[in-house]
Amino acid sequence: MAIIFYSERQIALIREASRIVAEAREIVREMAKPGTTTREMDQAVAKHLKKRGGESPFLHYRLPGKEPFPATVCASVNDVVVHGTPDDVPLKEGDLVAIDIGVRKNGYIGDSAWTYPIGKVDEKAQALLKAGEESLYAGINAMKPRGKLVECSRAIQELVEGRGFSVVRDYVGHGVGQSLHEEPQVYNYVQLGQNLPFWRTILKPGMVLAVEPMVNEGTAKVISDDGKWPVRTADGGRSVHFEHTIAILEDRVEILTTLGE
Ligand code: MG
Ligand code: MG
Repeated sequence: MAIIFYSERQIALIREASRIVAEAREIVREMAKPGTTTREMDQAVAKHLKKRGGESPFLHYRLPGKEPFPATVCASVNDVVVHGTPDDVPLKEGDLVAIDIGVRKNGYIGDSAWTYPIGKVDEKAQALLKAGEESLYAGINAMKPRGKLVECSRAIQELVEGRGFSVVRDYVGHGVGQSLHEEPQVYNYVQLGQNLPFWRTILKPGMVLAVEPMVNEGTAKVISDDGKWPVRTADGGRSVHFEHTIAILEDRVEILTTLGE
């Protein structure tokens, strides 16, 4: 599989899908309170997507060895790192809930995840949220047209580890546009011997990438039960997830999954 370079017209379509993602993210943010269930969030997002003429690229998504994904959004609470499935358990004070939202419209996809504190969360959770969000922007700010992709990965890892947390290595960011997961992989860490194409990847105009650090308070190791979607931290520590879809333009990097204010 090769990296796809999108035209300005195609990026405009990805921008449109990404805006709907950002709108849905704001709906979820408002709902992130004690007593809400992740199923209610899922249904609210599904309703918004329908209203805006979009659909979820996650619903019925297939990974080898798993049932088709059963919901519109991924909802990952506390020690769930990614791919959590929405349920009817009311969120409670102190929880951390990550909602990952994708939208496909007119054949083009935007992808963004955000993690919300439920009510008042402890100091370590606050620091974890801050490190996750800031690492996402550190990674994006380290990207520039004709720069190296590895600089993004390095910036994310340095920020996270500098705060005493760890970055998940088993799941990574990705190219996105016509499919949910395209080349290249966007690692959240660097390591000698990591695959060479990644080290050599230069950011060129037309590339569209989902940058998505997953940050753990304890070990970076993750586990997943056979056939089940949710991925958890191996030590039961909490995890946060922040993601934007960005485009490399001629003269700058644009965050697409934003309302633009
Ligand atoms: Mg996502
Ligand atoms: Mg993604």
